[in-house]
Amino acid sequence: MATVQPAITRATFDEVILPIYAPAEFIPVKGQGSRVWDQQGKEYIDFAGGIAVTALGHCHPALVEALKRQGETLWHTSNVFTNEPALRLGRKLIDATFAERVVFMNSGTEANETAFKLARYYASTRHSPYKSKIIAFHNAFHGRSLFTVSVGGQPKYSDGFGPKPADIIHVPFNDLHAVAAVMDDHTCAVVVEPIQGEGGVTAATPAFLQGLRELCDKHQALLVFDEVQSGMGRTGSLFAYMHYGVTPDILTTAKALGGGFPVSAMLTTQDIASAFHVGSHGSTYGGNPLASAVAGAAFDIINTPEVLNGVSAKREQFVGHLQQIDAQFDVFSEIRGMGLLIGAELKPQYKGRAREFLHAGAQAGVMVLNAGPDVMRFAPSLVVESADIDEGMARFARAVGAVVSAR
Ligand SMILES: *Cc1c(COP(=O)(O)O)cnc(C)c1O
Repeated sequence: MATVQPAITRATFDEVILPIYAPAEFIPVKGQGSRVWDQQGKEYIDFAGGIAVTALGHCHPALVEALKRQGETLWHTSNVFTNEPALRLGRKLIDATFAERVVFMNSGTEANETAFKLARYYASTRHSPYKSKIIAFHNAFHGRSLFTVSVGGQPKYSDGFGPKPADIIHVPFNDLHAVAAVMDDHTCAVVVEPIQGEGGVTAATPAFLQGLRELCDKHQALLVFDEVQSGMGRTGSLFAYMHYGVTPDILTTAKALGGGFPVSAMLTTQDIASAFHVGSHGSTYGGNPLASAVAGAAFDIINTPEVLNGVSAKREQFVGHLQQIDAQFDVFSEIRGMGLLIGAELKPQYKGRAREFLHAGAQAGVMVLNAGPDVMRFAPSLVVESADIDEGMARFARAVGAVVSAR
């Protein structure tokens, strides 16, 4: 006799999951392209993209095909054995970027943990054990392990977990003088997001990144770009560093890399990679055949002129709608970001209320994000249909209207 399964509802979340998230009241159960449906069959247009992850929308046929094919072939070997999908993906990433070596992990956090460990290790073995200082930025986000929250510039994520890793210093983003003031020969790395994502969708200025490059060269420090959110086509370039024309020594990528399948990578040069040796670092799942096969399929689609060149027109369409919404409701003080990583900062009278707009959006049938309490964030599929942008923004306009008139 079949046992009756208890119903799964939003209330189940509070009974079974750690209280570290505040998920929406509805539970998505199905997705196709830029549309998602919940348990009740209500449809949403997805401008959240799983936080800049589902860069080809939901259930893209090529990704489904790669997952199915690999799923019937070989799932996992561990790194005691290598595997073909990981080697193919590594080759693609090297061919398309500055990098000469790649290592795969499973999350943005792990890719950054790898990058920060490598930067310290490289400095201590090639230069001096005292060359350990990491310079990072206020409002930066680099992940949730103790090292990565400590390099991140939002103390609310690291306070209470101490003692924290030492010799990490934070200065204001886009402030080259502040960096120069703390930079010295004991610095092993400068870590920066070319576009701060979680911190409020703020792009670095070209002069800032160029200046960081020069300071790093002068002091033999490594320049680490965290492109976990800005990479894989999000800005219209494969990686944001290409747009800026400033090449890092180490780059991390995750989020869109697997299009929704957990996978991340750290890219670097042969010289820097060679500081590590067998046993220096590792991961059971990193570069797993399933993840690598899906990421390989996603890469082949994202790294094409059709997808990359399409980003700027889609951005213009989004920004046009946001400007119209602002003209009607007077809610935004600035619309910013790059490509399809779009931020809309709320006017002072709406500060702190980003999540209200997000909830109103869900009511109206559109999934959007916030980046902190004051900024609305949009990180849709890179191949979102023009008609979906129009329909989703019409729904978002209704949501904004509802929040504004509820005052
Ligand atoms: C999301 C994010 C991370 C963390 O990635 P996880 O996969 O959640 O560990 C790190 N850096 C940046 C810039 C991110 O946006």
